[in-house]
Amino acid sequence: MRWSRRATPGEPLVDQLKAALADDRVQAGEGAKQLFSRDASVIVGGRVGVVCFPETTAEVQACVCAARRHGRAFVARGAGTGLAGGAVPCDDPVVIVTTRMNRILEVDVDARVAWVEPGVVNLDLTRHLAGTGLHFAPDPSSQQSCTIGGNIANNSGGPHCLAYGVTTEHVLALEVVLPSGEVTVLGGLEPDAVGYDLRGAFVGGEGTLGIATRIALRLTDNPPAIRTMLVDFAEVADAGALVSAIIGAGIVPAAIEMMDRRCIEAVEAYVHAGYPTDAAAVLIVELDGLPGGVAHETAIVEELAAENNARTVRVAQDDAERTLIWKGRKTAFGAIARIKPNYYLHDTVIPRTKLVEVLESVYEIVDRYDLIVVNVFHAGDGNLHPLLVFDQREPGVLERVHRAGAEIVETSMAAGGALSGEHGIGLEKLKFMHLMFSPDDLDAQARLRAVFDPELVANPAKVLPSGASCGDIQGLAKMPDGAWV
Ligand SMILES: Cc1cc2nc3c(=O)[nH]c(=O)nc-3n(C[C@H](O)[C@H](O)[C@H](O)COP(=O)(O)OP(=O)(O)OC[C@H]3O[C@@H](n4cnc5c(N)ncnc54)[C@H](O)[C@@H]3O)c2cc1C
Repeated sequence: MRWSRRATPGEPLVDQLKAALADDRVQAGEGAKQLFSRDASVIVGGRVGVVCFPETTAEVQACVCAARRHGRAFVARGAGTGLAGGAVPCDDPVVIVTTRMNRILEVDVDARVAWVEPGVVNLDLTRHLAGTGLHFAPDPSSQQSCTIGGNIANNSGGPHCLAYGVTTEHVLALEVVLPSGEVTVLGGLEPDAVGYDLRGAFVGGEGTLGIATRIALRLTDNPPAIRTMLVDFAEVADAGALVSAIIGAGIVPAAIEMMDRRCIEAVEAYVHAGYPTDAAAVLIVELDGLPGGVAHETAIVEELAAENNARTVRVAQDDAERTLIWKGRKTAFGAIARIKPNYYLHDTVIPRTKLVEVLESVYEIVDRYDLIVVNVFHAGDGNLHPLLVFDQREPGVLERVHRAGAEIVETSMAAGGALSGEHGIGLEKLKFMHLMFSPDDLDAQARLRAVFDPELVANPAKVLPSGASCGDIQGLAKMPDGAWV
């Protein structure tokens, strides 16, 4: 174990943190402050107090306690791939980066449980499980870099969450450092934990209820058979209709992902996966389960595809072809850079039956603001991801992007949707919370938060409008006509 000097009361914050961790794991220079001032969203302007890299629960606890002694807030940070500004620091907090807490502590194959530290990268866990017949089901498209701690805080989803459920379905127990500095365990390994589901409250809490330091995850059996199909259409409406038809037929595929023409063109030029570049839309439909059932459902999907005017149905013949089809989907955001250097990725949920109607509105809104949109999303659960692509060097373009984005959110809500499918609220969606929740709803949530964090020191200014104090951060800017965008 690393030796550390005991902190002396009255010492400056940085010195206390260095005493608790180590000199090289506490950074307060301009370089570090710049680097950790934002996440993968377009939101800029966060101010970092000091950045810490703890390696143990005790060190996280020491960081939280030092922050508290100095009247500072703290914010947990994983890989910084969040898209809603969740890890963007507000009010000079102590930024607690978990990437050095990246050990897979224990895998119990018989119990199908893994204990991990929060900085474990999502895909590293599934790679670690190779040969056990098990995997970790939530698979965000960022899984090569995002951390399990970030997945838990945002209750992340991914293509295969349609059948397997989002992160909360796969978390059994959490060791957390509470905002008071106490360490506790929420949830348990037993099937039906008694008492309030505080584990459930913590997952999706976006770091406002404390910091997860050890996590017990439920592992999922690898399916015995998988069939992956690429279905292409001349009309987006037909692709949308097939999504509803598949679910309506009682089939719940492991994944149904949709890409529109612009996305197909960008991806194909990037990965050469054999996507038809003249299609208006493609669907990736993946079925898994026992071989007989998968064969039966494949035949039904092929029939439904024909009934819904699909042009072709390509069934992957082997693992290499399956991987290639998925590579196109999983690298879509990178491929977009071929169109313009910047993007703003929105994340709303709409009823599946309104998919086509809302997509048409999205195209109309984006045309009106003279922008480009690329659509690539989890169609099976109605989770839209319109990417507004732009070049931020173009004067005034960011304002148009924010305005169009706001209209897309409002349109999704008017269609009976939800503010976020997986990216969370962070700073980005604060201003829209009133579209989904009444003042009483928001007050009830604020009271729950206050049980964990009465002084609002854990990731303040996030999730609930009442906690907001970061109005100067771009992305929450007030436009000339007075509208908040
Ligand atoms: C290219 C790309 C594709 C993406 N695809 C998907 C997708 O398919 N599905 C999806 O859901 N998301 C997706 N995302 C968004 C993002 O990757 C996820 O939200 C991810 O879970 C964030 O993990 P992170 O480690 O980067 O967290 P960060 O961005 O570092 O933090 C996110 C939030 O988690 C909190 N946090 C981090 N660690 C802890 C902890 N230990 N305890 C408590 N709170 C903590 C932070 O305070 C912050 O509020 C994508 C992002 C990119 C850039």
